[in-house]
Amino acid sequence: MAEKKKKGLIQEFKEFISRGSVIDLAVGVIIGTAFTAIVNSLVNDIVMPLIGLLTGGLDFSMFNIKLTGDSALMLGSFIGAVINFLLIALVIFLVVKGINSIHLKKPEPEEPEKAPRLCPYCRTEIADDATRCPHCTSILPDDACADEAAARAEAK
Ligand SMILES: [Zn+2]
Repeated sequence: MAEKKKKGLIQEFKEFISRGSVIDLAVGVIIGTAFTAIVNSLVNDIVMPLIGLLTGGLDFSMFNIKLTGDSALMLGSFIGAVINFLLIALVIFLVVKGINSIHLKKPEPEEPEKAPRLCPYCRTEIADDATRCPHCTSILPDDACADEAAARAEAK
């Protein structure tokens, strides 16, 4: 009984590990960690110096509001963190957009075009499930009895 239960647990664990989503998640976390380093470097080493150049070497961490004693509201570093976040989000957005456009470039197999259904009376293209022609307003026959209906129309 206990043996059976143990086997069940091992089996369950094997299934849990071999499920694709667990591996995907692990890969995602590892790639994400490596990716974060790249994005951080891009923001800190390339984008921030450029922004510093544009703002004339303005350092946001200088803006502090002194409170009593040694404590101070570090407003500047908070603003810097917000700007960092926005830049990271922008960079990630651009990267994801680029990756998506690569995915979308795959040519999709086009469905073979079906010959359009024609009104037997005026030869206008009509919807497959139409019961009346929008052009000549004839009541459309089912395809099965189309010949019969055409014959009846001719008799009139
Ligand atoms: Zn018609």
